[in-house]
Amino acid sequence: MASTVEVSGRPDRPGRGRRTMAVCEVCGNDYDKSFEVIAAGQRHVFDSFECAVHKMAPVCEHCGCKVIGHGTEVDGRFYCCAHCAKDSEGDVPVDDRVG
Ligand SMILES: [Zn+2]
Ligand SMILES: [Zn+2]
Repeated sequence: MASTVEVSGRPDRPGRGRRTMAVCEVCGNDYDKSFEVIAAGQRHVFDSFECAVHKMAPVCEHCGCKVIGHGTEVDGRFYCCAHCAKDSEGDVPVDDRVG
């Protein structure tokens, strides 16, 4: 068998300890109940949803709050609600999925 196996990982892998390093990429907390989020092909590790929201959630272009619901997207810009979208975008047809 001459197949090449590529092992991706850090060069400084700790020997044989099978302990997964799951350090929150937001606050750096090394928490054994952290979780992964795969978004747009990127793997993220968080120790809490708060950190995940901090990192992942888009920010409303109008009021600046984190969009943690479905929110509203207009031409790649995120708004927390149709009201914010209409205030910023003017009279555009906005699909408010929040209802
Ligand atoms: Zn964290
Ligand atoms: Zn808003």
